[in-house]
Amino acid sequence: MAGELILIVEDNLRNLKLARDLLQIHGFRTVEATSAVDAVSAAETHLPHLILLDIQLPDGDGISVLARLRGDPMTARIPVVALTAFAMSGDRERFIEAGFSSYISKPIAVMTFAATVQQLCDDTSVREPA
Ligand code: MN
Repeated sequence: MAGELILIVEDNLRNLKLARDLLQIHGFRTVEATSAVDAVSAAETHLPHLILLDIQLPDGDGISVLARLRGDPMTARIPVVALTAFAMSGDRERFIEAGFSSYISKPIAVMTFAATVQQLCDDTSVREPA
């Protein structure tokens, strides 16, 4: 079921626009943040169904944002998906270990991105991390 609210956190405006456009075309609602500080406040304000979180932000890294989200009872259970250009083997495990629900690598795969996000929204297991 589309229509879920997705918070996109991405400081690269081209990547942000691409993610927004792909999600909106497929019926998602979106809100956006371009910094670590704004990411936390946007999550608290909008309580999105899922957060796509860039790892490299101008005022901090995504892992510290994730820690702040997990530390706040209001946002602790929102699935957070790492959105990162890091492509080295082992990074996926590193992000999952850090507490991310999943991992999407950049550049975004235009043909499959929205379906991947939908799958993550539908997967109840990612909503309740152990
Ligand atoms: Mn970035």
